[in-house]
Amino acid sequence: MAHETISNLLHEERRFAPPAALAAEANVKAEAYARAASDREAFWAEAADRLTWTKRWDRVLDDDNAPFFKWFVGGELNAAYNCVDRHVEAGNGDRVAIHWVGEPLEDRRDITYAQLKDEVSRAANAIEELGVERGDRVAIYMPMIPEAVVAMLACARLGAVHTVVFGGFSSDALATRIDDCQAKLVITSDGGYRRGSASALKPAVDEALIKLDNANRGLVENVLVVRRTGQDVAWNGDVDIWWHDVVDHASEIHVPQPMDAEQPLYVMYTSGTTGKPKGILHTTGGYLAQAAYTHWAQFDLKADDVYWCTADIGWVTGHSYIVYGPLANGATQVLYEGTPDSPERGRWWKIIEDHKVTKFYTAPTAIRSFMKQGSAVPDSYDLSSLRILGSVGEPINPEAYVWYRDTIGGGRTPIIDTWWQTETGATLMTPLPGVTSGKPGSAMLAVPGVDVDVVDEDGTPVGNGEGGYLVVTSPWPSMLRTLWRDDDRYVDTYWSKYAAQGYYFAGDGAKKDEDGDIWVLGRVDDVMNVSGHRLSTTEIESALVSHPRVAEAAVVGASDPDTGQAVVAYVILRESPESVEGIEKELANHVRTVIGPIAKPRDLMIVPELPKTRSGKIMRRLLRDVAEGRQVGDTTTLMDADIVSKIAAGQATST
Ligand code: ATP
Ligand code: MG
Repeated sequence: MAHETISNLLHEERRFAPPAALAAEANVKAEAYARAASDREAFWAEAADRLTWTKRWDRVLDDDNAPFFKWFVGGELNAAYNCVDRHVEAGNGDRVAIHWVGEPLEDRRDITYAQLKDEVSRAANAIEELGVERGDRVAIYMPMIPEAVVAMLACARLGAVHTVVFGGFSSDALATRIDDCQAKLVITSDGGYRRGSASALKPAVDEALIKLDNANRGLVENVLVVRRTGQDVAWNGDVDIWWHDVVDHASEIHVPQPMDAEQPLYVMYTSGTTGKPKGILHTTGGYLAQAAYTHWAQFDLKADDVYWCTADIGWVTGHSYIVYGPLANGATQVLYEGTPDSPERGRWWKIIEDHKVTKFYTAPTAIRSFMKQGSAVPDSYDLSSLRILGSVGEPINPEAYVWYRDTIGGGRTPIIDTWWQTETGATLMTPLPGVTSGKPGSAMLAVPGVDVDVVDEDGTPVGNGEGGYLVVTSPWPSMLRTLWRDDDRYVDTYWSKYAAQGYYFAGDGAKKDEDGDIWVLGRVDDVMNVSGHRLSTTEIESALVSHPRVAEAAVVGASDPDTGQAVVAYVILRESPESVEGIEKELANHVRTVIGPIAKPRDLMIVPELPKTRSGKIMRRLLRDVAEGRQVGDTTTLMDADIVSKIAAGQATST
C-alpha cells in the first residue's frame, strides 16, 4: 500500500475553552503562533534572551551538517548561574526555590534561592576538588532530596556531564549506564524513604562498581554519599566519601565558568518502552532556552505560583520541568521524596492543600490509579488553589482527562496535554492554557516556533480526519544532538525514515481530526493490522477506559489466522466488590459500540496489574510477547518483573 495510514476511530465532542480571566492575562497569547511562524529563528532568539549569556551567539541555527544541528553558535552561558545566581543578583534571594517534602510526615525543608546558590557553590567546589573537570561524566543515583538537584547544578556549573539514573533501578541498570558514559564520579545517598521505610541505595552502587566492564574497572574514582536515612552502609575508604565531609566545609564562593552553548549538559537514557534504552545527549544553550520558555508558556507561570511536578529527577521530565525549566524561570516549587500513597492515599492532595499548589504536572498512569480509588479521597482536601493541570508521558484517555479536570481541578483548570520525548528535551506539542480550547485526549498543536506534522509512509502530510506518523519538520533548540558515542544510531533511528524530507521521525502514530488538531495514537511499533485496517492501541484503550468499571487497559495485536492480527486486551477493573462474571464480553461489546466491530477485542483478560516501566508507561511489547507465546524481550526497566509471568499464567477469555 503506497498510502498507508492509521485508521481514525474514536470520536470525542467535548471542548473546554480557557477561563476568560486566565486568557486575558496569559503570558503567551494567540499572536505568538503567527510571529513564530513568520521568523522561527528570531522567535527562538527572543526565547534565548530570557536567559543570561556571558557572550552573545553569532548564529541562531547552524544547519550546515544536518542532522547534527547546533543552536546559538558562539554563545556562552552557564546553566547553573542561570538557574540560581542570577535570581539572587536580581534581588530574589529570599524567594523559596524548593519547598522540599520528605516522605516521613513533618520532614520538610524550605530552600531559598540564596541558600541554593551557597549549596550549589559548595558542592561545585567539593566536586572540583575531587578532580572532576569540564566534560567528565558524573552519575547521579539518588532519591528525591534537595541534594539531587544540587548535585545536578554543581555538575552544570563545572561543565561536567551528569547522567541521572533513576533511584529505583537495579545495580545492573546502573552499571550499564556508568559503563556506557564512563562516569568518573558517582553521587548517591545511603538511602531514601519509600512507602514508609528507609530503602537503601548505596549497596546498589557498590554492586554496580563490581559489575562494570573490565575495561572500565577503576574508572569510578569516588563515590560521594549523602546521609539521608542514617542507615548502616558498607564503606570502602579508598573510594567512598561522605557528602557532608567535603561539601559542608567547602567555600560557598564559586565563580561559574562560561560554557559554550553546545557544551554537553547531560546524558539521559530513554525509558525503554520500545527496546533497549538509548543515551540521549543534550547540550546547554538551546536546551535551557526551550525548557525555560515552554515551562513559562505552558504553565502560564506567574510570580505568585507554587508549581509542582511529580516526576522523578531520574526522567527527562524531572530534568526539564523540575530542575532546568522552573529554576531558570526563578519559580517556587514543591519537591516530594516519596510515594503518592504514603502514609495514606491522600498524600499528594494534602501536599497541594498545605502548599497551596497552583500549577501541577503529573502522568496519566497516576491519574488512572487515582480514578480507580474514586473521588472520595481527593474530595476531602482543599484543592481550590489549583489553576492549571498538566499531563505527560502517555496519551491521556479522554475519561482520565475529564476526571482530572473535574475531580482535581474542580472543573476550572485547563489541562495541558504535553507531548514530548527524552529526545526532544522540552515540550513540542501542547495546548496553551490561555489560548487553546482543549479537547480531552488531544495534545492539539505544536508549541509556537515548533513545526510538527502527521505524514504517510511516503512523507506526504495526511488530510484532516486521517492518521499517520508524527514528524517534526524543522529543527528545534532543545533537540538531542546525538546518541552518546553513537552518531550512526542517531542518524539511523531518527533521520533515516524521512531522509529525503529531512524530517525527524518520532516513532509515534498520530491523527489529525476534522479541525486539523493532532491526537497522539501511541507507538508506531504498537500499531495493529486487523483485516487490512491499521488500528492504534490508544483509541481502543480509551474506549475501554470509558466503561465505568474499567480503570486501565492495554491493547496489543496478536497474530491471527483469519485477520492477520487480532486485538487482545488486558484490563484492570476499578475497585469493586461485586462479581465480575461476564464482564469480559460486556467490555468487548462496549468497544464495539463505542468505535465499531473492527476494534472489538478477540480476547480480553482481566489482570491485577499491567507491566510498566519505572516511569509508569505501559510496556505493550511485553504483552505482545505474551499474547504470541514468545520469550519476553528486554525487561531491565520494568517496574515489577513478576507481573509478566503472572499475566502469562492467566486465562484470556475469547469474546
Ligand atoms: P524508548 O524510546 O526507550 O522506547 P520511551 O519512548 O518510553 O522509551 P520517553 O522518551 O520517556 O521514553 O517517552 C517518550 C514517549 O512517551 C513519546 O514518544 C510518546 O510515545 C509518549 N508520550 C509522552 N508524552 C505524551 C503525550 N502527552 N501524549 C501521548 N504520548 C506521549
Ligand atoms: Mg522513545
